[in-house]
Amino acid sequence: MSKILVIAEHLDGKLNASTARAVSAAAAVKPDAIDVIVLSDAPDAVAAEAAKIDGVSKVLTVARAENAHALAAIYAPQVAKAAAGYSHVFAPSTTFGKDIAPRVAALLGVSQVSDVMTVEGAHSFKRPIYAGNAIVTVEVDGGSPVVATIRTASWPAAGSTGNAPVEALSLDVALPSHTRFVKLQQGKSDRPDLQGAGKVVSGGRGVGSKENFEVIYKFADKIGAAVGASRAAVDAGYVPNEMQVGQTGKIIAPELYIAVGISGAIQHLTGIKDAGTIVAINKDGEAPIFEIADIGLVGDLFKILPELEAALG
Ligand code: FAD
Repeated sequence: MSKILVIAEHLDGKLNASTARAVSAAAAVKPDAIDVIVLSDAPDAVAAEAAKIDGVSKVLTVARAENAHALAAIYAPQVAKAAAGYSHVFAPSTTFGKDIAPRVAALLGVSQVSDVMTVEGAHSFKRPIYAGNAIVTVEVDGGSPVVATIRTASWPAAGSTGNAPVEALSLDVALPSHTRFVKLQQGKSDRPDLQGAGKVVSGGRGVGSKENFEVIYKFADKIGAAVGASRAAVDAGYVPNEMQVGQTGKIIAPELYIAVGISGAIQHLTGIKDAGTIVAINKDGEAPIFEIADIGLVGDLFKILPELEAALG
């Protein structure tokens, strides 16, 4: 009998969309049950959202004051304890999931499968390697449960018409005291969240400076898009690190991706390979980005973007 436990990612009382994507991956295993575990000091609102995800059998809440903040060192022993009786434990392959899942795997004495793109069977998964240049099939041949992180860009979010029961779980687990919450520092923006946005406009080294990035922000605001960047733009200090798209940044799957002044290095492309329509604006007609772009505009971005903006009215 296969039963999958999905770890819910949430912040400020709101469920992150990555959880519903991890549930889609869980459903592909065709298990007998998919339960979602919500660790929080006040889990009710998040649990109510999780209960609506299609395919979820039950939502388990673990309410403890220590769970007020998503600290992997605090969550992991509780998830490891709750995992008894489950064949799989899934977490989204986000900063949150990548922090917690390896700890859960280590506590359970199993190895972890990372970045699951497709499910081939209950113990067989496909995942990208070498910056997405090759896809490897991973067979898990020992140890239970299977602990895996799910490449959220590869999975659609499960629907939200469900009505699963919510059950409070009391876990008798001693929590470590070596890790404590100090503060959360995060960028504040009124723009859509880069990882969940339907449209993303990214700028690269070609934008030239922090000040010039204003043209990217302006265009993104015009079309209601999130703003991303290449690593070269981040390294040059044009934008903060959290905006980086790619292998060592965010892996995203928007419906529309507009790459502006970005050459199209493989490490950047690996972050956008699941995007719907890719538009590239680059003054070099030979830039590799045009090999994968659905629509390519060859020219100076400082001329093209204002023209596009004007055309949009
Ligand atoms: P460039 O390659 O310098 O390209 C700039 C482009 O702008 C050029 O094509 C140029 O023609 C164009 N341009 C210049 N001026 C204009 C103009 N006025 N109008 C229009 N076009 C113009 N990179 C990432 O992005 N994300 C990652 O996560 C990432 N991870 C990495 C991990 C590793 C281990 C390594 C080794 C590298 C990684 N990189 C990553 C870096 C990657 O290899 C490239 O160096 C980087 O993506 C290049 O960024 P870019 O395209 O902005 O810059």
